[in-house]
Amino acid sequence: MTKIGYFDADVVSPEEIFMAAGFTPIRLLGDPTIEHDKVNEHVPPTHCVWAKNVLEQAIRGLNPEIKGVVTSHGCDCTNREFDIWVEAVDLDFLFYLNVPLKRDKAALNFFLNDLKELISQIEDKFKIKIQSEKIKEAIKITNQIRKSLKEISEYRNSMILKGSEFHELVKLSQTNDKNYVLEILKNKMVELKKKAPFTENKMKRILLTGSVIDDTEFLKFLEDKGFQVVADDLCIGSRYFWNTIEEDKDPLIAIAEYHLSKPLYSTKMPSYDRFEFLKELAEKYEVDGIINIAMKFCEPMLYDHPYLNKKFRELGIPYIFIEMLYNREQYKQLSTRFEAFAEII
Ligand code: SF4
Repeated sequence: MTKIGYFDADVVSPEEIFMAAGFTPIRLLGDPTIEHDKVNEHVPPTHCVWAKNVLEQAIRGLNPEIKGVVTSHGCDCTNREFDIWVEAVDLDFLFYLNVPLKRDKAALNFFLNDLKELISQIEDKFKIKIQSEKIKEAIKITNQIRKSLKEISEYRNSMILKGSEFHELVKLSQTNDKNYVLEILKNKMVELKKKAPFTENKMKRILLTGSVIDDTEFLKFLEDKGFQVVADDLCIGSRYFWNTIEEDKDPLIAIAEYHLSKPLYSTKMPSYDRFEFLKELAEKYEVDGIINIAMKFCEPMLYDHPYLNKKFRELGIPYIFIEMLYNREQYKQLSTRFEAFAEII
């Protein structure tokens, strides 16, 4: 099966267009177990550790089934990386999707034009025609996945599903054939309906936010420290499934509108709106505290932290901000800070 990879800080890549073109969309994720050998000659030492890790893998060579990669406008770091991908990564098809920073009407038209350009370049490169009807069919499938994930996510809240297990499911949804994903999610829902809450020591209810957090081992580490992630606003989490795409209108307009109206990430404007969604989640899920994780050198998160710190202090919700390297050794080094946070909440 042929695949299109997407490198995306904010899950704004139109998976439905790749599906309509006959490809399986695969989100490119990091691997915290590898060393950075080849990438250092291309990026400065202060480059985001996660984006650097994905680039390292791409320079070494991606899965040969991946026939091209689309980078979607995200943070300055991923944006600037695109030129390096063109220079240093051996792929025949690379496209930079210019997802707008703003969310007004002009931004919508701008985004629509770039989606059309993406379609045109895929059609030219792979000698195919992307039919509108096929995009509509793909939207139906991805919407079912979104609805299923949203339903399953609630089992975290009732302490039936571990936050780490849910995180694995979202990752699986972003990196596999969507019909296969639907089958897995359907079976999971049947299984969860029969399960009782786990009876371990009372865990602290946490809202997890921050940069890309794609290493499930990190969530397992948090669970060892007594935290259950009951809610999140992550790209491997709620931002991937919170809303659905309208099915009864022009599919390209529907896709563009969907991406410009879903929960906001810090790479978009006005970034402080992100707080409103976090506040809604914190209140709805009655969390004991908020953990905000920034990948080392993730500027959007570094700029967000003072504002979020102030706003959550005003609300009286315990909040901790941690900037960390992208390797598992780091989790052990951070143990004391998380243990101290567990004690105060
Ligand atoms: S973790 Fe931060 S700096 Fe790195 S790619 Fe994501 S938004 Fe950009």
